[in-house]
Amino acid sequence: MTETADAQLKPEAQTHAFQAEVAKLLQLMVHSVYSERDVFLRELISNAADACDKLRYEAIANPALLGDSPDLKIELAADKTAKTLTVSDNGIGMSRAELIDNLGTIAKSGTQAFIESIKSGAGDLKLIGQFGVGFYSAFIVATRVDVVSRRAGSDEAYRWSSDGSGSFTIEPVDLADAPARGTRIVLHLKDDAQEFLDDWKLESVVRSYSDHIAHPIMLKIGKETARQINAASAIWMRPRADVTEDQHKEFFEALTGLSSPPALTLHYRAEGRHEYTVLLYVPGEKPFDLYDPDRRGHQKLYVKRVFITADAELLPAYLRFVRGVIDSEDMPLNLSREMLQNNPQVAQIRKAVTNKVLAELKKCAESDPERFARIWEAFGPVIKEGIYEDMERRDQLFEIARFRTTKRDSVTLKDYVEGLKPNQTAIYYLTAEEASKAAASPQLEGYKARDVEVLLLTDPIDGFWVRTALGFEGKPFTSITQGAADLDRIPLVEDAAAIETDDAATGTLIALVKQTLGDQVKDVRKSARLTTSAVCLVTDAGFDRTLERLLSRQKTTGVSMSAPILEINPRHPMIVALAKAAKAKGALPELEDAARLLLDQAHILEGEPVGDPASFGKRMTEMMQKAFGE
Ligand code: ADP
Repeated sequence: MTETADAQLKPEAQTHAFQAEVAKLLQLMVHSVYSERDVFLRELISNAADACDKLRYEAIANPALLGDSPDLKIELAADKTAKTLTVSDNGIGMSRAELIDNLGTIAKSGTQAFIESIKSGAGDLKLIGQFGVGFYSAFIVATRVDVVSRRAGSDEAYRWSSDGSGSFTIEPVDLADAPARGTRIVLHLKDDAQEFLDDWKLESVVRSYSDHIAHPIMLKIGKETARQINAASAIWMRPRADVTEDQHKEFFEALTGLSSPPALTLHYRAEGRHEYTVLLYVPGEKPFDLYDPDRRGHQKLYVKRVFITADAELLPAYLRFVRGVIDSEDMPLNLSREMLQNNPQVAQIRKAVTNKVLAELKKCAESDPERFARIWEAFGPVIKEGIYEDMERRDQLFEIARFRTTKRDSVTLKDYVEGLKPNQTAIYYLTAEEASKAAASPQLEGYKARDVEVLLLTDPIDGFWVRTALGFEGKPFTSITQGAADLDRIPLVEDAAAIETDDAATGTLIALVKQTLGDQVKDVRKSARLTTSAVCLVTDAGFDRTLERLLSRQKTTGVSMSAPILEINPRHPMIVALAKAAKAKGALPELEDAARLLLDQAHILEGEPVGDPASFGKRMTEMMQKAFGE
């Protein structure tokens, strides 16, 4: 604060510092040379509309809040002399404490990442709506912002004021200088933002960003008159054919903060036992907080155009990326948000709408595979949570799910099953953390040699559903890194070059390796799954190693890595040589070193660290010295 500004303040005025994150964000706004500055108006209008919605909801239980002005509206007024733009609403308003909390701190996580992305030039200010910090965008166009607010039902009003540089002031204002109810935001416009004083500019911004707002937006012309500049009807109530793609895009952007158009739009009216209107969107890209457990408000529940809550869980968590509105005609308005939790009508709507969303996704997958591939790319990992959580709809989800395999980029389980080899009785899969690593796994060799397709599952959730789903069309899901490979009954494509193996020698080698490695391994055995590699790691029942690795990284799970089974390929030339040496000479120190190197190599092939890097390095060096030394 400057001294002169302080001197103008009333004695009751108090200066508050912004929360550090807000201060950083404001610095970005104040110095922004952003070309798409119009977003600030969308954000302020959207806040004003929310404030009207909140009042309408509170007034259901307490009609006195509306007093003698039940019509809710938003008003824009430009003052060319004072160079101010004022955005007012007669909604719920803010108390002193709310002004301090709401306009001084940030409740949502993720803002830091947003700030970083803007600073680095990678982010887009337009996305600000996603982060719950839209108000602060006022400082893109204003040198000072004054917010005068009076909460509905209160006889106190306060002014919040800031130039965006680290602090704000709060002071009481006379009721005569405050709106009768609601919030008035006065923007003292920057010199280069004077265009927002022009009616045509304001009107065109409202048309392109805020036309869907269901409350009237009035543009003040002259002292007494005002003109409505938006359609002010809920977009979801308009006949489907009347809503243009642009209007959907605008509404979707206001809902989600995502500037790319939705990938899928569902707009319909359900009639019958319950009457409700649905307008839902599947985004074309991932929102930043898709995996944030605190993220809420995916679908909004309205009752007869009155906004009730965004927390009614109208769709299951695995469809949380679907955004939009459900507006019920026959639910009681005076239902409290708490009562909604166990409301049978909400449960019925959830069931019907969930099935509808899944049916639409399936339809899209069949009729427009390219579009569906993009949806699956963004949200497949989330949808697959449903295979784990929603047993009732598992078959529906299996029809939608797409998988990468060793042979194809994208298949359904049905496609997979159609390609089964003679005598193949299971759906084989390999879980891994990366597709490229998965494709190079030695465990795959025996399957490749038999031209057996293997699903490559690389999403964290895969390890979970695949263990609990009982199978598909009677074929169980079988991990290729667990248990013995039951491949004997499936013929090889080409007979591998017959290499003489000496079973007795291999047996001796295995015994020696087992003895050397002790409890570092659970077992050592001959492998049926390897053809070209010498060794690999597998597990028995229980978790496969990818899932074990995943769980062991999260301390809370209490899972730690168990000793693996080391499988060796008896036909591999190196193993043949080692077996021969073991048979002829018994437990030589060199063979013990070789045994340890075999295990280390197997760990490396799994993408895991070796148990003891120093000893590994030493043994490796000695081996190479022996091979190449004098
Ligand atoms: P968001 O609207 O995403 O929560 P904002 O930074 O835009 O984030 O606003 C912060 C909060 O300030 C809002 O959640 C709301 O509680 C309050 N607020 C902002 N504008 C108004 C308004 N016109 N009337 C009442 N409350 C408002």
